Amino acid sequence: MVERTLAIIKPDAVQAKHSGMIINLIELNKFSIVRMEKINLSKERAEKFYEVHKERSFFQELVSYMTSGSVIVMALEKENAVKDWRDLVGATDPLKAAPGTIRKMFGTSIGNNATHGSDSIENAKVELKFFFPNL
Ligand code: UDP
Ligand code: MG
Repeated sequence: MVERTLAIIKPDAVQAKHSGMIINLIELNKFSIVRMEKINLSKERAEKFYEVHKERSFFQELVSYMTSGSVIVMALEKENAVKDWRDLVGATDPLKAAPGTIRKMFGTSIGNNATHGSDSIENAKVELKFFFPNL
């Protein structure tokens, strides 16, 4: 099934000038970029986006990281986009991520892990609406 998912190039990767290489990987893996925007998240918006994690110990650190610089948000489309993008992104902790994954290549810690990907078709819809309400 052709699906859409939300991808974010996080502040560490944008700051390190890895966005070009990450976008290249996205295209090499046959995703179509339906929308793409470079933005700065406010604290309120970052808190809202990561609301499910608000009780977790790392929440404030996560919000301050996600607001520390620009992010690039994208709507990606392809067959099985949600799972395929999660697979390309790799495990949350770059040390545990498989070779060839974005987090293995560009992540530097469990917090600074270069990219975000929606974890289910349902969440992809919610997250896409959050950043691209007119999609
Ligand atoms: N995170 C963190 N410390 C942790 C776990 C997660 O800083 O111990 C951050 C990390 O940036 C991660 C985000 O919180 O990508 C969301 O966590 P989640 O468990 O949903 O990981 P993901 O779905 O991004 O792999
Ligand atoms: Mg998650």
